[in-house]
Amino acid sequence: MQKEYFNRLGKITKNLCLEIEEKIQISINVSLKDAEGTKTNLSCNIHENGADIQTFSPEHFPDDSVFHELLHIKRILVEKIPKLVFSQLVDESDHKIETAFTKQDNAFEHLIIIPQEISTFPERLHYWEGIMEREWSDIHSKEKVDQNITQFILVQWVFLKQVLAESPCLELARSIINKHGLTNQSNEFFDGLIPLLGNKEKAMLFWFEKLGNPKKLAALKYFDVLTGNSHEVPLCQMQ
Ligand SMILES: [Zn+2]
Repeated sequence: MQKEYFNRLGKITKNLCLEIEEKIQISINVSLKDAEGTKTNLSCNIHENGADIQTFSPEHFPDDSVFHELLHIKRILVEKIPKLVFSQLVDESDHKIETAFTKQDNAFEHLIIIPQEISTFPERLHYWEGIMEREWSDIHSKEKVDQNITQFILVQWVFLKQVLAESPCLELARSIINKHGLTNQSNEFFDGLIPLLGNKEKAMLFWFEKLGNPKKLAALKYFDVLTGNSHEVPLCQMQ
């Protein structure tokens, strides 16, 4: 990582960065993203040749957020956990589904990395609580739920119960789930998914089945940064 960014990090984040860079034998790059529109948090772009952490301003490089992005990078490039993507084998493109897959992959990864993040930076609990409060209040304002919102509810419910088990949001979430008749479905999704967190292939098959996602449009993409290659396995070819 470029020195001007690396030197601003705390010891734990520096160590995680060095550990990843040593394993992948490539320096993690920090780059600036377009600052137009709303200023969002950091993000990362992971590919077969390494990874970029993107910020909208050189001044904005918070230690705890960098730690979060590094955990994403470590999973994909060091632990070689595949990413859920829109399959290359599908002829037509569907931007909406592609975006949905990216968001769902991120939501799945968060079930694993955010507990690590909170145990290292306990103050991040409030950050994630704040996000949950906004999201559940938003769902609460909806009279009817379509398939997209149902999926969102199930995914957020797993996050809330798994990562923020003491959250004051749980009560509101439970009442929303109950109101829309999703109690059994949400319990089944949680109970079935949690034991599979250590096996992304099996977890994604279960995830697609329970959320009713189009399996034929999806693939899992594996990155091998040491050889600079990646390959996809269509989800429907997985058992
Ligand atoms: Zn993330």
